[in-house]
Amino acid sequence: MAINTKVIHSGQKPEKQFGAVIPPIYQTSTFSQLAPGVHQGYDYTRAGNPNFTNLEQALASLEMAKAAVVFSSGLGAIAAVLMSFPAEIKIIAEKDLYGGTKRLFNEVLKRFNYKFDYADLQNTSNLESLIKKQKAKFIWLESPTNPLLKIIDIKKISVIAKKYGLILVVDNTFASPYLQQPLALGADIVVYSTTKYLNGHSDVIGGAIVTNNQKIASQLRFLRKAVGFNPSPFDCWLISRGLKTLPLRMKKHSENACKISEFLGSQQMVARVYYPGLKNHKNNQVAQKQMKDFGGMVSFELNAKKIQINKFLSSLKVFILAESLGGVESLVCHPVTMTHASLSKKELQESGISYKLIRLSVGIEDASDLINDLKQAFRKIA
Ligand SMILES: *Cc1c(COP(=O)(O)O)cnc(C)c1O
Repeated sequence: MAINTKVIHSGQKPEKQFGAVIPPIYQTSTFSQLAPGVHQGYDYTRAGNPNFTNLEQALASLEMAKAAVVFSSGLGAIAAVLMSFPAEIKIIAEKDLYGGTKRLFNEVLKRFNYKFDYADLQNTSNLESLIKKQKAKFIWLESPTNPLLKIIDIKKISVIAKKYGLILVVDNTFASPYLQQPLALGADIVVYSTTKYLNGHSDVIGGAIVTNNQKIASQLRFLRKAVGFNPSPFDCWLISRGLKTLPLRMKKHSENACKISEFLGSQQMVARVYYPGLKNHKNNQVAQKQMKDFGGMVSFELNAKKIQINKFLSSLKVFILAESLGGVESLVCHPVTMTHASLSKKELQESGISYKLIRLSVGIEDASDLINDLKQAFRKIA
């Protein structure tokens, strides 16, 4: 079946008792047992719930994977992945990771003796020597990255990972399984913040992993139960609902973002536009090869003074000034003062994130309304 059909039907069989077309919300903490220790598949919601299973079936089917495991948040899923391996392991990570992931790695997991080495994985020339030197166990990356939308060649990295027996983890939150399927490109584990495009409506925090390795999946289910990384049944139900329009939404996000990136490129006050779909994007070739379309995230540098940049941001009316991404509504974010505020000056400079940088999560509104909104904000600072 094609992904358009799977998002509607996988894990969404009509309920048996009354034939409800939409599976109900199993809003229960516990399940009655037929006899001591004899239950009907579920005993306690921290360990499992039909709404978890429904969403897991759908997520696994989208990537033709053997298993998916849902979590309370993207960061919960990420923490669980590393906690399911012994501490003291070494991880080579892409240097441009989601800020919360870096905080989890550097401020929490390092205390448990996990070792992280950051590298620019656009360039693989030093990767093999780094792997040998560090005796690493994992490679961890995101593509597209946040907020500069670098594209990492997943297949190329996976060949190196396989050669040295490393586990490759790809955080596929920005692309979603509609645009990019890391398992098919050689990744071992895919992680998601379902908060973003998978749910798509900015009303739930959730996470998931997808893998073909059943052993890893069952370790992760164990951890979810043992640590309490479980989501709520209602949140899973909402994500299952949001998922049904993923292909429609991703098409529209990509179409709008493409138009907006072209519009921004034509603006005098815009010094630079970062969008993987633009021919002048440094990784456009890789993006064309591994993605179905280029997604809804666009970043750009506004060549203006601080007060003008602030005025631009507060003049937007359709774009909402807020963190996060992947919802139907368009958001604008100022990485230096918002999502990346916890990075040091040096880290910001190394990552190429300046005060001038603005990140858009382009929603599915009409493109002309979004462009008009940007136009009126440009006029205010002209
Ligand atoms: C948001 C995000 C996360 C964290 O997910 P939460 O659901 O907020 O915990 C991890 N990775 C990426 C790329 C994200 O955008």
